[in-house]
Amino acid sequence: MKLKHNQKLIIGNWKLNPLTLKEAVRLASKIDPQPLHETVICPPTLFLSSVKYPRLGAQDCFWLNKGAYTGQTSPLALKKLGVKYCLVGHSENRTAGESEEMIQKKVSALLSVKITPVLCVGFGTTVEEDDLEVTDIIKSQLTSALAGIDASKIVVAYEPVWAISSGDPYHHKMATPDHAEKIAMFIKTKFGVKKVLYGGSANSTNALEFLEQPDIDGLLPGGASLLPKDFNQIINMSC
Ligand code: PEP
Repeated sequence: MKLKHNQKLIIGNWKLNPLTLKEAVRLASKIDPQPLHETVICPPTLFLSSVKYPRLGAQDCFWLNKGAYTGQTSPLALKKLGVKYCLVGHSENRTAGESEEMIQKKVSALLSVKITPVLCVGFGTTVEEDDLEVTDIIKSQLTSALAGIDASKIVVAYEPVWAISSGDPYHHKMATPDHAEKIAMFIKTKFGVKKVLYGGSANSTNALEFLEQPDIDGLLPGGASLLPKDFNQIINMSC
């Protein structure tokens, strides 16, 4: 049996990959089902009911459960599929027009069906900013998203937008484990959030340095979650 020491939360965001159900089922079958860390995979919504893995997450949802809302995903239907976590406010969705108000409504709807929202913040930050400017942007995103919400019930993912899909978070001086640690500590102390993840080109080479930070409770890898060898290394990394 694997030791349960310093267990972190690792959430793999598959985004719009792969293209077919067969490939999705195959990919999930290659992910260690009993890793060292609590591990969640988030396949595209279309494949959620068929992909087998002990903990499933969704990449997004609507804020209402039922009715005349074409093309939307019901939080209650996700719950019935066994979904445990759902991403909200991912920078790719904020770019596509998701507003702070929509994000707040999604967080609230997820909590009401007992799915843990994973609120992504960090959109709109740039490499030029110092820690203080970054915390200002994050503070504003959290203040809007958490209006009327019990912050201790959600997970926050700090994702400096410039580091996402960059392939190398160290490419820019700000996306370092030290910087992410400072931001994670700020989110916890200011908002009462209990768990903060780091996301932005996390991979098996750099994961340990982030996981070793005391206030970083896990990772949200995108690209690396599609590579079973890399992802299995991350989810079994002792820290
Ligand atoms: C993400 O999808 O939130 C993400 C961080 O992606 P990547 O790891 O590919 O940068």
